[in-house]
Amino acid sequence: MPAATKKRELDFSAFPPGAVSEYTTHLCLACIFDVFTKQLGLAPRTAYTEIKRHSPAAEELTAAQASRPYFDSDEKSPRCPYCNSAKRWHARLDTYRIVGGKATDVARRALLKSLPKAEDQFQILETRSDRRTLLFEWLDTMGRNLDFEDEGWLIEATRAYLERREPKTDWAQTFEGLRAVRRSLRLEEGWERDRDRLFLAPSLYNEVLFVQYLVSRSHQHGGRTFEGRLTLIELVRRLRYSGHLDAQGITERDQFDVLEKLVEHLVGGEGAVKLYYIVDRRDFLEKVKTVYARYAT
Ligand SMILES: [Zn+2]
Repeated sequence: MPAATKKRELDFSAFPPGAVSEYTTHLCLACIFDVFTKQLGLAPRTAYTEIKRHSPAAEELTAAQASRPYFDSDEKSPRCPYCNSAKRWHARLDTYRIVGGKATDVARRALLKSLPKAEDQFQILETRSDRRTLLFEWLDTMGRNLDFEDEGWLIEATRAYLERREPKTDWAQTFEGLRAVRRSLRLEEGWERDRDRLFLAPSLYNEVLFVQYLVSRSHQHGGRTFEGRLTLIELVRRLRYSGHLDAQGITERDQFDVLEKLVEHLVGGEGAVKLYYIVDRRDFLEKVKTVYARYAT
């Protein structure tokens, strides 16, 4: 990677894993210029000024399915799916989402302070969400990235959950060369690595089973866990007999009520969460200038 490109990247190393999500989308400037000059009848100069000010909403930048004038593509030289324009008409917008809270406040303030202020090269957006929505979004993303054909996903999901639960621990080191995860017969809380095995206290092990169930249930009949394939009824029964439900104060009998309570326990309450988006507009500003130059001549 050339030094100039590298220097442009933001440094998120001060943030705990899972606190920052990255989104990339492409914006077709030919489509936008077209709307402003042809449909709205603006002079190119006015269109340029308007477009430069364009500030998209967080939903537009992070949507799973982009809509005009945005589009997603992994190709090196994509064509606009709406107007077939070539790459030189497209701007790339990178968006970084930081989950607000104690774990990220200091790093976020420092990062925002360090960003260049000139010309609105970076735009900051704020929205609100809640922990439950974030949990299901996290499960969804994980589900899309795991390979369920390979048994290794069970350990990967365990690691992802532990990273989320205890972001300060060096899990890369803990999982290095790990071959198995087991329920500990000795530990009352926490975890312990013993040679190539990781032992989890029963409550933590049960939480991992629940996460494995949640992440795999839409891909399989029932969910898959370290304890094999389980339907919701089987999972609830297992957690009840192991004392997990009593320990969490879950007294509901209906399996779906129990599921709700387990989710509540996993997210740690209904808390509201603030989300911060950093939109990197540098490529957009450069491209809009060159596209305008084409229009103006
Ligand atoms: Zn287009």
